[in-house]
Amino acid sequence: MHFFPGILKRKLSNLYNTITMRNLFIIFLSAILFFPVVSCKTGHKQKRVLTLGVSHESNTFATLPTKESEFNVLRGADVLKDQLWADVFRNSDIEVIPTLHAYAWPGGVVEHSAFKNFMNEILDSIKNAGHLDGIYMDMHGALHAEGYEDAQLSLIQEIRKIVGNDVLISGSFDLHGNPSPEFVEKIDMLTAYRTAPHRDGAETRARAVQMLADALKTGWKPHIESVEIPILVPGEKSITEVEPLRSVYAQIPDIAGKEGLVDASVFAGYCWADLKRSAMRVFVVARDKKFAAAAKYEAVGLAQQIWEKRNNMVLDVPSGSIDDMIIKSEEYTDKTVFISDSGDNTTAGAPGDNTQVLDALLRHDVKNALLAGIVDPEVLRYCIDAGVGNKITIILGGKVDNAFCKPLRIMAEVLFISPDSLLNSDRGIAVIETRGVKTVILKSRRSFVQVKDFTEAGLNSLDFKIVVVKLGYLFPELRDIAPVHLMALTSGFCNLDMRTLPFKKVRRPIYPLDPDMVWEPV
Ligand SMILES: [Zn+2]
Repeated sequence: MHFFPGILKRKLSNLYNTITMRNLFIIFLSAILFFPVVSCKTGHKQKRVLTLGVSHESNTFATLPTKESEFNVLRGADVLKDQLWADVFRNSDIEVIPTLHAYAWPGGVVEHSAFKNFMNEILDSIKNAGHLDGIYMDMHGALHAEGYEDAQLSLIQEIRKIVGNDVLISGSFDLHGNPSPEFVEKIDMLTAYRTAPHRDGAETRARAVQMLADALKTGWKPHIESVEIPILVPGEKSITEVEPLRSVYAQIPDIAGKEGLVDASVFAGYCWADLKRSAMRVFVVARDKKFAAAAKYEAVGLAQQIWEKRNNMVLDVPSGSIDDMIIKSEEYTDKTVFISDSGDNTTAGAPGDNTQVLDALLRHDVKNALLAGIVDPEVLRYCIDAGVGNKITIILGGKVDNAFCKPLRIMAEVLFISPDSLLNSDRGIAVIETRGVKTVILKSRRSFVQVKDFTEAGLNSLDFKIVVVKLGYLFPELRDIAPVHLMALTSGFCNLDMRTLPFKKVRRPIYPLDPDMVWEPV
C-alpha cells in the first residue's frame, strides 16, 4: 500500500535536501565565526602556575641582622635552570611563571627592608601575572624578619588577598622550618625534606610541584592535618639517619601512599628562634577533606612516637668541652679527627668569629691542626697587605660574637691568599699558621661543608690530625669522608644545650625547658 502519492514524496525529498544544506551552511558559518573563540579557550586549558621563594633560617639570638645584599636572588628563566621541579612542570604541560626566588645562608633576623622589598616584588608579579591556577612557594620555613610577627604569614596573606582562595598553593620546606598554624591555614599542601643532614632538597621541591600538578589535573581539594609537638631540638639531636628518628622518618613514604593521602612530613623545627611558633610538627596532606580523619590519625600517631622518644634524641657522636675533645682526639692514632665548634655553627646562623677553639688548640699546644675558619674581613686585609710568606701580628675574631669570646692577639705567618681575595670578592680567603695550627681567614660568613671548600683554600682536610669546622653535624660529603667526628659543646649563639639560651617568647611548657611536662597529641 502506498500512503504517499508520487508528488508528495518529491516535495518531502526537496524539503529534506533544503534543511540538510541549510544545516551544513550554518555549521560551516559557525566554525568560521567561532573558531578564534574555541581556539582561545583551548589555549586557556593549559594550567598556569606562578613560583616564588624567600628562604632563610633566621637565628633570633644572633646579633647581626641578615641584609638584602646577603641574599642570592634569581628571577625569571634563571630560577628554572637545572631544577628538577621545573622538569615536573614541563612534563605536566603546565605553564610556569617564575618570579623572585631569594635565598641566604642562615644568619641573624632578616632586615625589615630586605623582606619588604622581596615581598613587594613578588606581589607585583602576581598582580601582573594574569590568570593563575596555582602557586609554588620554595621556602625554608624558619624565616623571621624585623618588624614582622610572622613574615611568611604576611606574605601568604597578601598573596591570598590578590588571588583569592581558589588558587591552589603548594610549598616545599626544610624540615628545620617552623611554619605557624596560621600560615598553614592559608596553604593547600606542603612537604619537607625527609633527611637531615640534607640529601633530598631537589626531590622535596619536585614532590611539592608534583602534588600541585596532580591536584590541578585531577581537581583534588587538598586538606592538611597537623600536630604541633612541644619540643625544641637542635638538628644535631634529630638526625634522620640514626635512631630514634630514623624509624619515624622511615614511615613517611608508607603513610603518604595510604588511601586518600598524598604526603606526610615531620618538621624537627628550628630551635634557635625565640618565637612562639618554634616547635616540632607533623603534617599529613589528604587529597580531600573527606580523608581528614585518616590524615589526623597518622599525624597523631607520628607525633605520639616522637614525644615518647624525646629523651632519646641525643647526639650521635662523642661530645664534651673543647678541652675534652682535644684530649679525646689523641685516642684515634693515625686518623683525622673532625671536631665541630657547635656553639658557633655558621650553618645555623652563628657569626663564625668565635675564638674559643683556636685559644684551646694553642693552649693544648696541638700540632697539625686546621681551624676552618674564622670570619674577620679586617684580618684578611692585613694578610693581603702583608703577602704570602710574611709574618703578621693580629687581633683575631670576637668582633661580632663578643658575648661568648674575646678577640685573640696572635702572631702568624701568611701561607695562602686566594685569587678571590685579590679581587675583593666576598668569597676571599687566606690561610695563616700559628704554632702548628693553621687557620682559614674568611672575608664573609660561610661554612666549610664540602670537600671543595677545603681545596679552594689549597687544603686537604685529611692531611691534618684535627680539623675544626664551625658546624653542628657534618654535612653529607664531610660526614662520608670523616674518619672520626667529635662534637665540642662550645658556647655561642647556636648552643646545643637549649636550657642555656635566654628563651622568652617560646610557648611554654616545652621540652626540654620544662623537662617534667605532660603532653598528649590532639
Ligand atoms: Zn636544615
